[in-house]
Amino acid sequence: MADPTETAPSEVASFEDLSLNPCLSRAVSKLGYERPTSVQMQCIPLALEGKDVVARARTGSGKTAAYLLPVFHKILESTVPRGTFPRALILVPTRELCQQVRDEAVKILNGSGGTLRVEQLPPTGSKPAETRAVLGVRPDVLVATPGRFATCLKDKLLQPDSLQKALQMLVLDEADLLLSFGYEKDLNLIATQVPPGCQVMLLSATMPENVERLKQLVLHDPVVVEVDDEDG
Ligand code: ADP
Ligand code: MG
Repeated sequence: MADPTETAPSEVASFEDLSLNPCLSRAVSKLGYERPTSVQMQCIPLALEGKDVVARARTGSGKTAAYLLPVFHKILESTVPRGTFPRALILVPTRELCQQVRDEAVKILNGSGGTLRVEQLPPTGSKPAETRAVLGVRPDVLVATPGRFATCLKDKLLQPDSLQKALQMLVLDEADLLLSFGYEKDLNLIATQVPPGCQVMLLSATMPENVERLKQLVLHDPVVVEVDDEDG
């Protein structure tokens, strides 16, 4: 049965209809994306309205751009002074996924002609100096595993008050795996540092019971998007 909190899909046929910042519309067209996938059609308008969003859609359905585009849009349209960072934090379960998300982000940003910076935290076992070097470029968007980001907070490489001032958007990607990979403790710590007005998007291919706990921990009155069709 349909979830009562689910919003009907908007009748959007093209990226132009999504009212993204023109730099981003240009970027997706340069990437050869002709039209948004179903999960993008549903998530992007909700995210641009400022809603917290929970999205379940199969692997390969385009969930990465479904959150990266609203994240970039929000930063591009924001009046917060540049250099306030990180404006968005994207948490994923593995180092490989950090790399994949950053690659997709860089592809979009290259096409946008903009100057936003996306960086990933160095892997576990790296020296604090390496993390300091990454943070030293003041990336607008930071991609990390919860373990690496929690370490960064515990080691005071990133001050809680700068996070409180800067963070506008938090993304939990592959949420089911974030929990099955044992990041619950790190996520609990990170949740205590997320500023109250921060918008949250949670994405997953499956929604097991423990994802509900994560939803309750960090999301406020989220809109749930569930996509089951082939297109994703
Ligand atoms: P998911 O996270 O849902 O598993 P991805 O975000 O990794 O899926 O997207 C899968 C592939 O689809 C990627 O190669 C991505 O570049 C591509 N893609 C995303 N959105 C579109 C689109 N609107 N049109 C065409 N290809 C797309
Ligand atoms: Mg994905």
